[in-house]
Amino acid sequence: MEELEHKYEVIIDMTEEKQKLPDDVKAELKESGMMDDKGKLKLKGVSPKMLKKMKQEFVKCPVLKEDIQFIQCFVCPNFQSRVMGKVLCKGDSLK
Ligand code: SF4
Repeated sequence: MEELEHKYEVIIDMTEEKQKLPDDVKAELKESGMMDDKGKLKLKGVSPKMLKKMKQEFVKCPVLKEDIQFIQCFVCPNFQSRVMGKVLCKGDSLK
């Protein structure tokens, strides 16, 4: 497989704390059909078990300079792929 062009490799961390998605991210997810009206996530190819795990994961985003839930990162335009516990991130400015 060809190496994807990316700027950052961001390590995925786990937290036991309950993470909440920001409202604007929820709205985006709903708009793109990845979340239903009840706020339940529907990500293609992601099993409920994986989803449960994903909800506890976060990354220290090098672009937004804050901790971002993995789910938000997963749907970010900079997200390229997930390889061995790391996110390959394009690193473009998000503003
Ligand atoms: S893909 Fe998006 S959210 Fe994830 S680390 Fe890169 S800029 Fe941050």
